[in-house]
Amino acid sequence: MAEKGGNSSWFVRQEYGGIPELFYSHSTKAPFERCISCDRSLQQPDSQYLVEKAFRNYREFGKTDVIFEYAMCLNCADRMRKELSLSSLARIQEFFEERVDFDQRRDQLMQSKPASSPQWIDKCLITGESHQNLDEYQVYGHFVGDRCVYSFLPYMIGGPAVDEITNLLSEKTLGEIDRFIDENFGLPPELKKPIKDNPIIFI
Ligand SMILES: [Zn+2]
Repeated sequence: MAEKGGNSSWFVRQEYGGIPELFYSHSTKAPFERCISCDRSLQQPDSQYLVEKAFRNYREFGKTDVIFEYAMCLNCADRMRKELSLSSLARIQEFFEERVDFDQRRDQLMQSKPASSPQWIDKCLITGESHQNLDEYQVYGHFVGDRCVYSFLPYMIGGPAVDEITNLLSEKTLGEIDRFIDENFGLPPELKKPIKDNPIIFI
């Protein structure tokens, strides 16, 4: 989760909308029901949570697959952040500060488009590349019960920018990500590799 100016600024300016179907669970075709980590129910009016989904784009076939997806309550997301190495966190924050003006982006999207516009997630937050031109991309969103929060999120990050971010992470943080994947996804080795390349919830 990228932060700018500290936690409080998350809540400075936001609007709510319905949950875009892109953020539904691929397996249930409905909004996520449970936190992947603590199993807390998410469809309560005051349940705050994040969703991350990673897609692979088979451009030559016009087909997109979901590589992985999960929802995590803000309590668990905060707890995971605290397990990260400080050096990784500092480098990620610096990266976002240098590359993205979250306040400006949010203000522009809110001015020119209704809150639920697909423009929030059409283009890579870092490079501006359209999702049609990306082999892999990930989307991140912030939700409260059955509502999507529009502020700094939602956003999309393409594979090349994810690689840049992964290169900023320490061995300790990469180890934490491995552990998270092993505990939560139980994937066969051939699918682990692309996920290990991704910093998942930490941005
Ligand atoms: Zn949780």
